Amino acid sequence: MLPSQPWFDLREGVLHAEGVPLPELASRYGTPLYVYSRAALQAAWQGYADALHGRRGLICYGVKANSNLAILHEFQRLGAGFDIVSGGELARVLAAGAQPETIVFSGVGKQAWEIRAALDAGILCFNVESAGELECIARVAADCGRQAPISLRVNPDVDAHTHPYISTGLKDNKFGVPIQDARALYHRARSLPALRIVGVDCHIGSQITTTGPWLDALDKLLGLIEQLAADGIALQHLDLGGGLAIRYTDETPPHPAELLDPVFAALHARGLGHLQVVLEPGRSLVGNAGVLLTEVLYLKRGETRQFAIVDAAMNDLMRPALYEAWHGVRPVRPRDDDTPETWDIVGPICESGDWLARGRPLAIAPGDWLALESAGAYAFSMASQYNSRPRAAEILVDGDQAWLVRPRETVHELYAQERIPGQPPHPEVRGP
Ligand SMILES: *Cc1c(COP(=O)(O)O)cnc(C)c1O
Repeated sequence: MLPSQPWFDLREGVLHAEGVPLPELASRYGTPLYVYSRAALQAAWQGYADALHGRRGLICYGVKANSNLAILHEFQRLGAGFDIVSGGELARVLAAGAQPETIVFSGVGKQAWEIRAALDAGILCFNVESAGELECIARVAADCGRQAPISLRVNPDVDAHTHPYISTGLKDNKFGVPIQDARALYHRARSLPALRIVGVDCHIGSQITTTGPWLDALDKLLGLIEQLAADGIALQHLDLGGGLAIRYTDETPPHPAELLDPVFAALHARGLGHLQVVLEPGRSLVGNAGVLLTEVLYLKRGETRQFAIVDAAMNDLMRPALYEAWHGVRPVRPRDDDTPETWDIVGPICESGDWLARGRPLAIAPGDWLALESAGAYAFSMASQYNSRPRAAEILVDGDQAWLVRPRETVHELYAQERIPGQPPHPEVRGP
């Protein structure tokens, strides 16, 4: 059993996703292949639902972690709202059946067309990240005769103790409004009739393994909320963002209840029990609900290192190249009788940064399938077509059933939209 991924389990020597043997999926759909477990999505969701305990809260799934329509639809069905960061994500969640009044819109660079689309849809809230954006939203809303619901995303200047690239709540990050500027900006918002103030927001980072940073941020936000109340600005919700960690290797992240219990306790202690609590978890809802299957192509024994060259690459799973992130590697059919050797798992891309795992003891041979663990979040959603590699297929397993929720891209699709000046579009060429 994969320690963090109980829905991906060895049965009779073969790795399964729920009731489906992974070799069956790999031979039917080819590799690289993302495989998600519906039961794992539901269990992760249930962790948050249990933590809310019937209290006033809204869990807005952080869409950028994995934005496949099948996943969005599953969370919509379970009662999730959505945290989006672009007009593209807005279109996706609406296509998946989201209720507009459960959508919050984050991101530092919202464009006028995206703001207009979100106003037309009737979203719950814009999480505003700068003074310039506040003015832009007011202008766009006034132009289309609407009132825009807003929160300020406040940067509380707390250290989330995570990787610098996924730390977002320090004062030298590009995100949010410095907390000392927030009060004046709320006053400005109040003076603009096209805006309606509904809340306050922060998001301090990702893969955060202790609750301390949120509670530090909460403390600062509560001070601001009280000051605003004294100024006559009453809020309806408090959004504490996403960022709860998952276990990739030996992390021991808190259960959502360990975060929400002290949050609700603090609100009650300060007489703010009427505030709705919003969270925006992404990774912790999907990260351990997926694996990336890949085939070993070649073994290459070097003088100092040994490379297992596989058919997945940094374009499929960018996190190791981007953050030196660790993903577990499991043979789909473990060769228990063979002696493991130490391998670097690398892809076919022409970049030295194209590695997926380093120094792993494995007994493997060409033709073997490997499962890269914890590939449900920031894997497909970060995938590219670099080196003209079609993006891999995605499968959602539900019990004994496997649904193809995104077919593999074809080679022709890679350049079907491209044009050579003076020539008509390229005729269809059959790719693999
Ligand atoms: C990325 C992001 C999230 C989700 O973060 P996770 O670490 O995946 O939980 C939530 N809110 C905002 C504003 C984000 O940018």
